[in-house]
Amino acid sequence: MHQKFTQKELYELRNFIPVNDLIRELKIPFKFSEGYFRFLCPVCQEFQTATKTETNLARCFRCERNFNTIDLVLICQHFTFVDAIKFLKGIYSKHQQRSYRKTELNGLLKHMTKAF
Ligand SMILES: [Zn+2]
Repeated sequence: MHQKFTQKELYELRNFIPVNDLIRELKIPFKFSEGYFRFLCPVCQEFQTATKTETNLARCFRCERNFNTIDLVLICQHFTFVDAIKFLKGIYSKHQQRSYRKTELNGLLKHMTKAF
């Protein structure tokens, strides 16, 4: 059975889950060197990598390959596409709840400051 996802859903999963957070979530080894976040490339097992927040892509300079969030899940978890999307959706909703709580707290703080 083929499950269909909308372009919007796929776009959100590729762009709104920070790739660095996903790397942590997938328990891919990572380190900081020269101020850059470097992850262990799941393909060649080297740290010649970097992530780009503007595009939300992880790049391996050795493989000369970019990985988006969906690619990373597919490669690391050996999931089918549908399972990878479900997995990312789980992370995305966790993420949204977290940022929602933050917004709520900021609103509350602003309100409190006003009261004084
Ligand atoms: Zn590589």
